[in-house]
Amino acid sequence: MRPQQVVVIGYGMAGARFAEEVRRRDPAGERVSLTIVGEETHAAYNRVLLSSVLAGAMATDAVTLHDGAWADRYGVTVRTGTRVSRIDRVVRTVTLADGDVLPYDAVVLATGSRAWLPPTEGLCDENGEPAPGVVAFRTLDDCERILATARPGAPVAVLGGGLLGLEAARGLAGRGNRVTVVHPVGHLMERQLDPAAGRVLARTLAQLGIEFRLNVLASGYVPGDGLKLADGSHVPADLVVVSAGVRAETGLAGDAGLTIDRGVVVDDALRTSDPRIHAIGDCAQHPGTISGLVQPGWEQAAVVADLLTGADSAARYTGTPVVTRLKARDIDLAALGEVHAELDDPDAEVVRLEDPARGRYAKLVLRDDKVTGAIMLGTPDAAAMVTQLYDRGMPAPSDRLALLLGRALPSGATGASPADLPSSAVICRCNTVSKGQLMTAWRAGARSVSALADATRASTGCGSCREAVCGIAQWLAEVDPDQDAATAGRTAS
Ligand SMILES: Cc1cc2nc3c(=O)[nH]c(=O)nc-3n(C[C@H](O)[C@H](O)[C@H](O)COP(=O)(O)OP(=O)(O)OC[C@H]3O[C@@H](n4cnc5c(N)ncnc54)[C@H](O)[C@@H]3O)c2cc1C
Repeated sequence: MRPQQVVVIGYGMAGARFAEEVRRRDPAGERVSLTIVGEETHAAYNRVLLSSVLAGAMATDAVTLHDGAWADRYGVTVRTGTRVSRIDRVVRTVTLADGDVLPYDAVVLATGSRAWLPPTEGLCDENGEPAPGVVAFRTLDDCERILATARPGAPVAVLGGGLLGLEAARGLAGRGNRVTVVHPVGHLMERQLDPAAGRVLARTLAQLGIEFRLNVLASGYVPGDGLKLADGSHVPADLVVVSAGVRAETGLAGDAGLTIDRGVVVDDALRTSDPRIHAIGDCAQHPGTISGLVQPGWEQAAVVADLLTGADSAARYTGTPVVTRLKARDIDLAALGEVHAELDDPDAEVVRLEDPARGRYAKLVLRDDKVTGAIMLGTPDAAAMVTQLYDRGMPAPSDRLALLLGRALPSGATGASPADLPSSAVICRCNTVSKGQLMTAWRAGARSVSALADATRASTGCGSCREAVCGIAQWLAEVDPDQDAATAGRTAS
């Protein structure tokens, strides 16, 4: 039987992962023949790490996901630097911008999302492209443009005080730029933080040299001068970095007549309204997921690979409980679940601790004794414990304050030290890797952090779990340097 022809549209984080997952299940390409089409000129790269590139913590070539020989090694046809301009669902072909036409049995849409540019006068040219001195922060090319323009000491304005805007601001301030963040809402990261947490975060970032203009819109931009704000004030800027939100890239799917809402609507099999077309990652809209983070896209890639290779035709995606982390030097922030519950909510127990002078804020939302939401700023130990409780749906220890302070270690339940963690504890969120999986890899011979990363992919996403993976490797080396790490974990599972 001939392998089915699968065309992947989009060579970003989800499209690249899907191809890897297919080749894990079908190494010789007997069941699936793969073609990936990517509009960017680069091979797929880890977009999540662009903030680290901007901050100077990583080189641009360190974020590449596939080396030059990857496609040949895995028998995948990769077309970069060209976009798919049309899907014809009747004759089952996709047409590329360069005129080529590819037949398909199945399509995987992995077109991601694109940066949204606010309708500020002067920000875009007549074609809707960013004006000189304006860069949206989404791609490796954007990152390189920012670095080329933001000479040390130059004033930079960041439009948008959400997660990515703040990561960009922190990175540029760390490089010596004079950074002002302009945000139309009264507090930072309003999707993930309540106003009190937003204030503590702003205070901490201000101490690191970043200025804020909150609750005000940018009304105009003049190249070489800067931003005019709606209250009549002016923010000088040689460069404006726009990070005002993203929109799912749905144009192609919409033109093909697929059902679109905020994203391409999919069911639990990640099927669109055409069963031959799946959608994964930022462009997909599944009821169980907030899009815009890599973990859901990578989990979805594995499910579609199961389905299209026939490895598991019953595989389904039911959603991902996401935890948002700010990746900025000197700041430790995690937010999860329902964060906006108020102290007077009659159905929820809300506990809060505020220590703005030391940049700390902790909020816990509980229902029926279980953590349903949390904001943990400047409290890394507590964040680790609360996240484990949230993931596992376990009752929280009765001493809530001790938990918020990171001092609660109920017998055998949770804890920040590797020995205390249960096997099921998720260590790497991006790749959904548990402590148990790391132990299994260790037992199979992966005896270093990089070997554990190769075997399980832990720490290869946003990288924020790297310290935890190191801790587990160290602990395994101590408790059982030779073989039986399972024994070491038995007490904890
Ligand atoms: C600076 C930055 C920091 C981030 N930090 C985090 C983080 O800490 N944690 C986290 O979970 N997430 C983070 N994200 C979000 C994360 O990067 C995305 O969720 C992830 O990249 C989504 O993967 P994707 O494959 O769906 O989309 P993308 O990675 O955007 O890839 C989509 C690709 O499809 C291509 N494409 C689009 N249309 C077509 C077409 N018609 N034909 C061909 N190609 C097309 C695009 O050019 C793009 O290359 C961050 C994003 C940015 C920009």
